[in-house]
Amino acid sequence: MADLRTCPVCNMDVNPADAPSETFRDQEYSFCSETCREQFLMDPERYARA
Ligand SMILES: [Zn+2]
Repeated sequence: MADLRTCPVCNMDVNPADAPSETFRDQEYSFCSETCREQFLMDPERYARA
């Protein structure tokens, strides 16, 4: 069963198996697209969970 995550940028469901991901402050984030990943990298503080 797929372990779905939520894209922190646009709140879409993401399958981490085939999604780009980044680690920020020891948290792993998965993104629905490269566009959202780039968006996150420009301002991670804004999207990271507290
Ligand atoms: Zn997204």
